[in-house]
This record gives sequence, C-alpha cells and structure tokens, in this order.
Amino acid sequence: MKTETDVLVIGGGAIGVCSAYYLSKQGRAVAIVEKGDIGSGSSYGNAGLIVPSHSTPLAEPGMISKGIKWMFNPESPFYIKPRFSCELISWLWKFWRACSKRQMNRSIPVIRDLKIKLPIQPAKGYSVTFKRPPGCSRIPFVLAEAKVALTPLGDALRFAGTLELAGLDLSINMRRVQAILKAVPGYLPDIHPENLERIEIWRGLRPCTPDGLPFLGRPMAYDNLILAAGHAMIGISLSPITGKLVSQLAANERPLIDLAALNVERFDRAHTGGGPWET
Ligand SMILES: Cc1cc2nc3c(=O)[nH]c(=O)nc-3n(C[C@H](O)[C@H](O)[C@H](O)COP(=O)(O)OP(=O)(O)OC[C@H]3O[C@@H](n4cnc5c(N)ncnc54)[C@H](O)[C@@H]3O)c2cc1C
Repeated sequence: MKTETDVLVIGGGAIGVCSAYYLSKQGRAVAIVEKGDIGSGSSYGNAGLIVPSHSTPLAEPGMISKGIKWMFNPESPFYIKPRFSCELISWLWKFWRACSKRQMNRSIPVIRDLKIKLPIQPAKGYSVTFKRPPGCSRIPFVLAEAKVALTPLGDALRFAGTLELAGLDLSINMRRVQAILKAVPGYLPDIHPENLERIEIWRGLRPCTPDGLPFLGRPMAYDNLILAAGHAMIGISLSPITGKLVSQLAANERPLIDLAALNVERFDRAHTGGGPWET
C-alpha cells in the first residue's frame, strides 16, 4: 500500500506530537520520525506541571554569580560541569548577555546536517516517582527555593528538580537525586521520601536556549522547514500552543501571537529579520 505524507515531524516528544496533532487536524497526512519511542525523551518523566506563569527563564539577573557559587556544591539545584566545549562557551556567552539584559520575560543531528546551528544546551534534571502515600495532597507543590516540584500523578507521587549543564551525559548522579529528596521534609514535614515505595528514578534533558525563549519559526534558508525547539522547563505547558502555531505557519496563516521574539535566527550575527509573520 502506498502511503502519501505531506509533513514529516522530526521528534516524537510533546512538541512534535502536538504539532502532528494540529497539522493532522488541518487534513494533512503527517508522519512522526522518532529515533526511540514516542514520548521517551524529556517529555517522559518530567514534573508534569501545566503552569507557564510559574516558570521564569534560567537567564535572570544574578544567575551567573549564583551558578559559579553552586558549581562547588554537589547538592546545588543548578550545576555546570566544567569542560572545554566551544558550544557551551558560546551558549554561556549568549546566556550571560541575556542575564545582563535583564530579560525576565537536544541537540538534533538532522538540524546540524541542514547547516542550521541552534544554540541549545541540554540541561539535565531528575525525577523520582514513588507510590503515593495515603493522605497525600492532590495539589502539586513547587518548593521554590530548593527548586523542587512535587506532583501527585494518579497513584504516584513524583519529585523533580535540579538543572545540570553537563552536555549529553545521561548518567544519574545519586547525590543530586538525594538532594532533591532531602529538601522535601523541610517544607512538608509529613512526607519522608526514604519511607516511600519507589517506582522509578529518571533523568531527562531540558532543551535550553540562552535567553529562555523557545525557537519557533522558519529559517530563511529553507521554505519547507519549521523549527520548534528549546522549550526548556515548560515544554509540556507550551506544547499545545506550539503545535497550533506550527500548524498555522505551515498553512501560511497569521499566527495567534507575534513570533518575533522566538525568531529562529535571533542569535545569528547577520540576523536582519524573519519570515513574513516574524518581523
Ligand atoms: C526534571 C524535569 C522536570 C520538568 N518539569 C516540567 C513541568 O513540570 N512542566 C513543563 O511544562 N515542562 C517540564 N519539563 C520540561 C519538558 O519536559 C520539556 O520542555 C519538553 O518535554 C520538551 O519537549 P520536546 O518535545 O521538545 O523534547 P523531547 O520530549 O525530548 O522530544 C524530542 C524527541 O526527539 C527525538 N529525537 C532526537 N533526535 C532525533 C533524531 N535525530 N531523529 C528522530 N528523533 C529524534 C528524541 O528521541 C525525543 O523523543 C521538565 C523537564 C525535566 C527534565
């Protein structure tokens, strides 16, 4: 049987799946190209909070000095693995500029083959899922200072946190996992993670841009390519609107919101503007 496909979506995470959903609602034949299982990347074990308003970008005033201090603390919520990497140095430079501008507002090989360079650093985070203890709140919590989220998910209770700039290293650092769990009783004295029945320890890579804003739009060099990546800490929250916007760009419709700030070439030195709806 011959299968016709109008649109290829590369990556079957929350962003790719939502894009495929809205594209197929337009009547397009969509295929998702996924190197692993659908939803097996960062979209798998995250904190599951749909709260765009509660997330501030990583690039905030004072973050550089905090980051340097935290580099020497193996239990800190934010860590940069010291290493020589041109991509990391370039990303940190852009990050520093985004911090100082007071902007509060995964590496995909296919994109590299197209000679498109997106400054995205993978920022590792962990989650530990337990059986939900009886009497536990049904409301999620964000322990803001410790940067830990507690999310009740059906019969499970998930603790998530930490942010490590350590490249594509997917190893699990148990010291950091323990630091997440240790923070909990200080806020919620009735919850002692060491007494709970553990289901899973997970790590995932958040795709982080230097200024904390995702990339969404068409690169100037290609008229048949739309990029939607770099949703960092809030990709689950932003996946439905991202999928909708991708479908609008694909149909050459005016997007629901102005996409100028998300221009995919905004970090290019020679950047002079975007596509028809992105200036
Ligand atoms: C600890 C933690 C907690 C989080 N908590 C929240 C939260 O509470 N709320 C929230 O909104 N967000 C949260 N996030 C962020 C959220 O998980 C991510 O922003 C989101 O999952 C990114 O989705 P994505 O589709 O871009 O990436 P992914 O889910 O990683 O999907 C990308 C997919 O592309 C595939 N892929 C990669 N390269 C190729 C290739 N060459 N060919 C084919 N396929 C390829 C991968 O296998 C993967 O499945 C959290 C993240 C972490 C790590």
